[in-house]
Amino acid sequence: MTNPPDTPDIAIVGGGIVGLVLAAGLTRRGVQVKLFEQARNFREIGAGIGFTRNTVNCMEKISPGIVRALRSGGSVNVSLDQVDPNAYLRYINGYGLQREDDPMYQKPLLRLDAGVKGWETVRRDQFLDDLVKEIPEGVIHLQKRLENIIDEDGSEKVVLQFTDGTRVEADAVIATDGIKSTARRLLLGEDNPASYPQYSHKVAYRALIPMDKVTAAIGEYKTQKQHMHVGPNAHLIHYPVNTNTIGATVVVSDPNDWPLDKPTTARASRKDVSDALANWSLPVRNLVDLFPEELDQWALFDLAEYPVPQYNKGRVCLVGDAAHASSPHHGAGASFGVEDVLCLCTIIPEQTVQYTRERNVSKGDSMRAAFETYDKIRRTRTQWLVNSSRRVCDLFQQPEWADPAKRVKTESCFEEVKDRSFKIWHFDSAKMQEDTLRDYQERIRA
Ligand code: FAD
Repeated sequence: MTNPPDTPDIAIVGGGIVGLVLAAGLTRRGVQVKLFEQARNFREIGAGIGFTRNTVNCMEKISPGIVRALRSGGSVNVSLDQVDPNAYLRYINGYGLQREDDPMYQKPLLRLDAGVKGWETVRRDQFLDDLVKEIPEGVIHLQKRLENIIDEDGSEKVVLQFTDGTRVEADAVIATDGIKSTARRLLLGEDNPASYPQYSHKVAYRALIPMDKVTAAIGEYKTQKQHMHVGPNAHLIHYPVNTNTIGATVVVSDPNDWPLDKPTTARASRKDVSDALANWSLPVRNLVDLFPEELDQWALFDLAEYPVPQYNKGRVCLVGDAAHASSPHHGAGASFGVEDVLCLCTIIPEQTVQYTRERNVSKGDSMRAAFETYDKIRRTRTQWLVNSSRRVCDLFQQPEWADPAKRVKTESCFEEVKDRSFKIWHFDSAKMQEDTLRDYQERIRA
């Protein structure tokens, strides 16, 4: 298949959720895309992931096939509530015995209404499998690990070099190669601390547990609905990921360092988790008892301390975690990558083709301008998320949760949690698209 004249050829590096969503969006718009993924197969871990209504709307605008994949992947509204279709995120006190006469009691702290189908959750591996099916044949190239990008002024194409010695040319490169992005290091340089992820001093333990067992451990109500249990130096979140499975994640503070050259997962045991939550309330301890005896400990890295100064350079740009990897405490890292993709699909290829024709510039130059617009529109909001995620984690894990005398102070944090969550959920994607178009058209006219 050849592109119509003036339509750019785009290379995508990295086939995680964001790279695949981008490939689905660009191919739907008639762009010739090649996606290069280092792994032998697409693989996601069997853990849950959630998307707000707003993100699902963005997916719909990028390509209805993405929402089809989400739903055929078995997504559920996070509150499996037959009566009320709205999704609520519930924050409750996870620490200590809170009522002498009822060891299962946990004080409700905040109930956030995310709206109708406001928070859809799915198993990552199932979503990814179904997303791959939405990508036309011939787009995906596996076992291609990016090693170098050559983007020289004056040359017609950008050259990608892979570790197997092969080279590919494209008019532009969009790197969705995740938190350990090679493209980011190539763009920023080996010596720039922003080239590398930074340890957030939190570790996570994740489990998928059959719903009937969870019901027996924590009761029907909590099982069917997302709950965030807060307490000193840790928190636990759980939600249904389909109609018979609960996804649960425990996040624990870790004062130690985690060197970058050490793998980001380590083997751990259920005892590590239960020791960290030893004095927590009975439902929390019951749920942790259902975690596998052996499991992974995930070190949580992000780009908070050394944010990427610019998401574009020449005909290359960084998207998703490659640009703004966040710790997971807002549950919105992939969602923000989806917003990035919508921003790009707003101008590629329709606007870039117009630019190429009207101004008689090369396809590469029109893409260069598109990436400048993308950086301008997306950088501030996405870097806010990275900071805000660390901030809400500190609020969830205030050491003072253990001190009854400080209860009023600790509980007052939820007004802030609400404001921050609403900034994510109530994002006006139509306005972002207008701003994107306006900025790009100003560049065409400049
Ligand atoms: P990745 O998924 O990391 O994909 C990058 C891909 O690039 C990989 O397939 C990798 O193999 C490939 N690659 C890397 N280097 C190269 C190379 N040199 N050449 C070729 N290929 C390469 N987000 C949400 O929106 N909602 C949630 O509920 C949520 N929960 C989370 C819970 C936890 C515990 C964590 C850790 C994160 C959570 N997130 C959530 C964040 C979300 O997981 C990430 O933001 C998202 O997966 C990033 O997708 P990506 O495609 O940008 O990167």
